[in-house]
Amino acid sequence: MKKHYSAIVIGGGPAGSSAAYTLARHGIDVCLIDKAVFPRNKLCGGLLTLRSKKIFSQVFDAPWDKAFELEANGVKFFYRETQLNSVENYSQLFFTCRIDFDDYLIKLAASKGVDLHLGDPVASIDLKHKTCRLRSGAEFTYDYLVGADGVSSIVAKTIYGSAFDKQKIALALEIEVDREKVGRLITNPEIYFGVVNWGYGWVFPKKNTLTIGMGGVHAKNPNMKADFIAFTKGICGDVPTEKIKGHHIPFGDYRKTPGQDTVLLAGDAAGFVESLTGEGIAFAMQSGYFAGTSIAASLHAKNQTGALPSYKDKCREIHNALNHANFLKYFIFPKASEYLFVRKLLPDAKALPFRHMDLMAGTMEYREYAKYLASRAFKRITRRALFLK
Ligand SMILES: Cc1cc2nc3c(=O)[nH]c(=O)nc-3n(C[C@H](O)[C@H](O)[C@H](O)COP(=O)(O)OP(=O)(O)OC[C@H]3O[C@@H](n4cnc5c(N)ncnc54)[C@H](O)[C@@H]3O)c2cc1C
Repeated sequence: MKKHYSAIVIGGGPAGSSAAYTLARHGIDVCLIDKAVFPRNKLCGGLLTLRSKKIFSQVFDAPWDKAFELEANGVKFFYRETQLNSVENYSQLFFTCRIDFDDYLIKLAASKGVDLHLGDPVASIDLKHKTCRLRSGAEFTYDYLVGADGVSSIVAKTIYGSAFDKQKIALALEIEVDREKVGRLITNPEIYFGVVNWGYGWVFPKKNTLTIGMGGVHAKNPNMKADFIAFTKGICGDVPTEKIKGHHIPFGDYRKTPGQDTVLLAGDAAGFVESLTGEGIAFAMQSGYFAGTSIAASLHAKNQTGALPSYKDKCREIHNALNHANFLKYFIFPKASEYLFVRKLLPDAKALPFRHMDLMAGTMEYREYAKYLASRAFKRITRRALFLK
């Protein structure tokens, strides 16, 4: 077995598989290590936007239609149990089960020549000697390391002392239920505001099941499990018997410099999840791709500056999207603005749900959406002030 690689990628989620695939495509010898044996599940709503589709097609030379199991073309918005607005027959959203999606991507990486080392967690990283030590006792050395090992990243912990800031991280809870449990046909996703602080609830359609979930800033939701049970009771009519699973999710708190020296962080390990909709898969694939191209260019050019400056530069595109979403979250989530934007504007403004769907689908940029929301709010406030006079 080979003991040294030009690049080692830790984590076989969308970030890791994209990075490893890209490196192999550029002729770099690369090993992907994951603690799990694939196919493995990952807690996730499985919503893939058109942004995900676009990035997937940029990274992988493979058919998109094998990446998802169901397509939707609208969305319904609720405030608690009251429907506020809906969009139908509009744009495309795709739904996948991560057990299949991640297996598809890691197999694509293997088909490009990536060596897989699975079922063996990385236990420690020696940055000085560029060595990964695995639980089995195996050791691998590298020229470059990509930390794509998710929100609790051991690579981020090694560099920064902790993987994330407990005050800023979000928690998401989910159950997967049979469609018969909900007494109505659900073909488009449903978004529920007002059910959790600084977050939202969702019901996402899958081929045979429904994913019911809720996510919000952990520090602001001390009773999230009880809130989630109440939410699912509202959807299913009864307390769920399915096991409730939870997973942390970054909430816009990302690494400005995603890495150190010859170590690059990608996906959740770098905090690349957008805080308004919780979209992370697209940014995971995109950052993995950026990490792969930056490392390949640096190795081919044998440059002294290394891959990190170029990677940081490329990630600016992701940072911009996350910054705008961070700004927008103050329009949607605090109680006062939630009243104006969610409860007043969303039911009234005919175009707003379409624009929100554009954002979810990835066909409208965050900057444009922020401008649009600000102008709608300004119009409503001035109209009200004039009317009161
Ligand atoms: C409940 C929930 C719902 C979500 N819904 C959506 C959604 O609908 N759409 C969307 O776009 N995003 C969603 N997200 C976010 C999305 O799941 C993540 O952003 C995405 O999975 C990040 O991909 P990644 O490759 O960075 O990390 P991950 O997918 O977490 O992959 C990390 C990999 O690293 C491996 N690993 C971890 N530690 C080690 C170790 N020590 N040694 C070896 N391997 C290790 C793990 O086994 C795993 O395979 C959701 C998140 C949650 C929690």
